[in-house]
Amino acid sequence: MDEFTLINKYFSKSKHDNSVYLGVGDDAALVKVDASQALAICVDTLVEGVHFPINTNPEDIAYKAVAVNLSDLAAMGAEPKWITLALTMPRVDADWLKNFSEGLYACCDAYHVSLIGGDTTRGPLSVTIQAHGFVPLEKSLKRSGAKVGDRIYVSGELGSAALGLQIISNKLTAPESEQKKLITALNRPEPCVKQGLLLRDFASSCIDISDGFLADLQHILDASHVGALIDLTKIPLSTALLDMQQRLQAALTGGDDYQLCFTIPAEKSAAFEQCFKAKGLAYFCVGEICKGTNIVFVNDNHYKINLSSLGYQHFGEKL
Ligand code: ADP
Ligand code: MG
Repeated sequence: MDEFTLINKYFSKSKHDNSVYLGVGDDAALVKVDASQALAICVDTLVEGVHFPINTNPEDIAYKAVAVNLSDLAAMGAEPKWITLALTMPRVDADWLKNFSEGLYACCDAYHVSLIGGDTTRGPLSVTIQAHGFVPLEKSLKRSGAKVGDRIYVSGELGSAALGLQIISNKLTAPESEQKKLITALNRPEPCVKQGLLLRDFASSCIDISDGFLADLQHILDASHVGALIDLTKIPLSTALLDMQQRLQAALTGGDDYQLCFTIPAEKSAAFEQCFKAKGLAYFCVGEICKGTNIVFVNDNHYKINLSSLGYQHFGEKL
């Protein structure tokens, strides 16, 4: 199969809205840029054996490659519009490409995004996607806006993806009924696009949780020059039937959940909660921004908890 046939067959099926003047097929795509908004751009590469295990289902690879980029846009409060795809493959395998393209379009269609161009090369399997979206500049959600007294929230359950990764790497066993759910959390993250758009009106800072809750919250703290008080009992742990310690560890330090972590000024928190509740969107208040530079843990009686005393050793120097 030559490159032209391949692109035509697997990557020319986008449903474009009227923002696309010209999609796949020419030397570059042409799109309509909304002059009243900022253009948000991000890119992420997934390399086989590094970001996904060898022999991962191509449908899942593609879905996740799109989803992680849309998650970055969501964390900025941006509405996703277009993606480009740079695909490097060791060989042309029609079955693999068909499945890959189905996963890619499944995620694009779910979030009303169109594939407008890309590049196809031969080499070790790697998938790079660049995503583009719009957000009014003054409403964009940066990491740097958290203020002392703001509430800290996460948008959903944390840790399932990390537990899923442990299962597929044979480092953890779980009841059969739990395995599928955890592996799906790893392979099919759902970007919080809706949440990001709504948060434009409420959040003072936002980040998506790709490296783990503590690591990503620390990025907000560093950018905002503040500290955080986190109530460990409020962290929404994976509901998998596994022991508490494993679930807490995964929730705090496991990556790949792609939930949002954000801060809301105290005076806006009631309106924010009402808005999310009305839309049926989950939220969990897990703590508060305070003075300082790092994260202090408490329980629901406000007693300080020393994580290392609970047997946690791998949290890095910051704690
Ligand atoms: P050029 O040599 O001018 O870069 P290519 O032959 O690489 O052109 O690509 C031809 C067209 O197909 C371009 O519009 C490009 O954006 C698109 N394209 C190439 N590879 C992909 C891909 N993997 N996914 C989507 N579009 C692609
Ligand atoms: Mg090219």
